[in-house]
Amino acid sequence: MVRPDFVISSRGADRRSNIVNHDPNCIFCKIVAGQIPSKKVYEDDDFLAFHDINPWAPVHILIVPKRHITSMVDVTMDDQALMGRMLATSPRLMRELGVGDGYRHVINTGADGGQEVMHLHLHVFGGPRPWKKG
Ligand code: 5GP
Ligand code: ZN
Repeated sequence: MVRPDFVISSRGADRRSNIVNHDPNCIFCKIVAGQIPSKKVYEDDDFLAFHDINPWAPVHILIVPKRHITSMVDVTMDDQALMGRMLATSPRLMRELGVGDGYRHVINTGADGGQEVMHLHLHVFGGPRPWKKG
């Protein structure tokens, strides 16, 4: 069910009824919109990467689609390019942050999967151990 305060994109892939561009109550949508500050490490038309506010490791970034996708549950084959680019950009970002080797990718899905922010995000964390959790 699409809530009336959601902005629905006119792009073909976004006409699916469960896809919205911006949820005004979502922390990561607010970060994407610049309404909440973040330490950005990368941005393009489709996604944004920024440092986690409560890092589990010496370097811990989050890569988030700009479009509000709640979780992996809502990812479809239409998102192949987006998901692939998010993943494939991460080694370059980690390298630029001084982590050339040895990092971990995590996507938590749903409450039972440990997801706390309901806007899809890829954690990438690395650097010298010990790490806090994960
Ligand atoms: P999850 O548990 O949903 O997979 O991870 C959510 C992550 O978002 C957590 O690691 C948490 O520290 C991070 N986070 C939550 N709120 C903010 C925020 O306002 N800014 C930033 N940079 N990270 C946040
Ligand atoms: Zn969102």
